[in-house]
Amino acid sequence: MTKFSDLKLDPKVLKAIDDAGYEKPTPIQAGAIPPALEGRDVLGIAQTGTGKTASFTLPMITLLAKGRARARMPRSLVLCPTRELAAQVAENFDTYTKHMKLTKALLIGGVSFKEQDALIDRGVDVLIATPGRLLDHFERGKLLLTGVQIMVVDEADRMLDMGFIPDIERIFSLTPFTRQTLFFSATMAPEIERITNTFLSAPERIEVARQATTSETITQGVVMMKPSRRDREGSEKRTLLRALIEQEGEKCKNAIIFCNRKVDVDITAKSLKKYGYDASPIHGDLDQSHRTKTLDGFRDGTLRFLVASDVAARGLDIPNVSHVFNFDVPSHSEDYVHRIGRTGRAGREGTALMICTPRDEKNFDAIEALVKMEIPRVENPVQAKKAAKAEKPEEKVEEKVEEKAEKPARSKPARSRKSSEKVEAAPEKQPEPVKQEQPQQQPKKQSRGRGGRDNRVVGMGDHMPSFIALSFEERRAS
Ligand code: ADP
Ligand code: MG
Repeated sequence: MTKFSDLKLDPKVLKAIDDAGYEKPTPIQAGAIPPALEGRDVLGIAQTGTGKTASFTLPMITLLAKGRARARMPRSLVLCPTRELAAQVAENFDTYTKHMKLTKALLIGGVSFKEQDALIDRGVDVLIATPGRLLDHFERGKLLLTGVQIMVVDEADRMLDMGFIPDIERIFSLTPFTRQTLFFSATMAPEIERITNTFLSAPERIEVARQATTSETITQGVVMMKPSRRDREGSEKRTLLRALIEQEGEKCKNAIIFCNRKVDVDITAKSLKKYGYDASPIHGDLDQSHRTKTLDGFRDGTLRFLVASDVAARGLDIPNVSHVFNFDVPSHSEDYVHRIGRTGRAGREGTALMICTPRDEKNFDAIEALVKMEIPRVENPVQAKKAAKAEKPEEKVEEKVEEKAEKPARSKPARSRKSSEKVEAAPEKQPEPVKQEQPQQQPKKQSRGRGGRDNRVVGMGDHMPSFIALSFEERRAS
């Protein structure tokens, strides 16, 4: 098995890795670092969370250790799709170069041009940028890309999704033909294949996981839910989300909740907060300082639930996420792989649960086709509860108590409309809003009284509790 010390990295880099507590290189690192150190082009394909950042950063800084920065001509360039990702790569640089004297500049939206211009004027070894912002600087004549010896394209598949390919092509053409190119992606779309064929020269291709596979350390599940009425879909999904969170109980240390649309990111975060959950939204319309603060809080554990859009969360390095909830089925199946890749990182255990409505079934099928597995169906805790109540109401003392608590939660707050949908108000009369739920959809407060995961995650057709069937009939009747 490869050790970092076998990899011919600069001793100062090795020391920083040691300080970071890394014991051995990940497979993509073991594969990409040697050819990169030889000056070859590298095409690295590995799923999220496999350590791609260090795969290019470590050889890059080892190579840059020789030589000096020149005014306005950065020696290397890292392109990232979002400012969060760029900031994260910058943090990684700081970690790995802590025993070296390499300088960097960060060109991203929300950071002032003036400061970054000053840095670039003095000369930087590493320029980390989002494509749009880089081209803005370039067009203002403050920057020359003719000194770039190493160029990195990180998270290329997201670049493609975000429409950055023309920008990337332009940037490639502004850098010297002789540059070394390190190109990383979690998946290989045909368009990305085309770019690499055009701009990489005889690259060493390192493909670690099969394309679009999900980590085996992630327990996946999907709840098939049918809204009772179309205009109740949003609020019923939120009720279900809370029920799932409660059902996971203490196992759910923290979670990222993905929504497809920004407006739903906001509504869901607001709703969770109303019900007493520690949640904050993150998406592209929120200003940079706000996003940074939210993310920092989530990283250091002061924030438990991060409600996110795909763009905001792509590639974010957030260690120790125990759960991912897909509030919506992503419309691009590859996003499913990226989303759930936020958990189960670096060999840790993780859980990814998704809510699927009949409308989502086409997208859901595409996901199962992509990941080449059947995602286990999880019983709907809200429905199960309802059915259990209908079957033997007297036996459940605990539920009677809950039922009482439910009464004040009239159906009024549940009414909401599509896009102008308002967050349902938690009923004011109750002292503890956490306990308030939508009428008749009260999820179990704790998973303790239940059988736990094995009982709950049920493969299709394996064992189907009778009350599930009952609830289907009920729905058919209504
Ligand atoms: P990717 O870009 O492939 O999604 P990252 O580069 O963001 O993954 O790394 C994911 C996480 O793994 C980070 O928290 C990083 O610090 C950690 N990591 C990277 N390399 C190693 C290693 N060799 N040993 C242990 N942890 C590592
Ligand atoms: Mg990455």
